Amino acid sequence: MNNMPHMPNPGINFSQTAALSCEKCDNEVFQPAFLLRKVSALVSPTGKETVVPVQLFACIKCGHVNEDMYPIE
Ligand SMILES: [Zn+2]
Repeated sequence: MNNMPHMPNPGINFSQTAALSCEKCDNEVFQPAFLLRKVSALVSPTGKETVVPVQLFACIKCGHVNEDMYPIE
């Protein structure tokens, strides 16, 4: 019985998390950034060329995005 209804993050304990740091400069603070993917009109559901934003996080110091942040290869 581990159900605790008033925990904001059920199942996640801060001490069980690990800090991610930048591969380039070891900084641990990131800012939201977006990849923009162009969807060609041929495969777009609307039939028109569209741009889809994909959110990831970039190092706030050097702007580097760690490889494991990329959702796509
Ligand atoms: Zn960095």
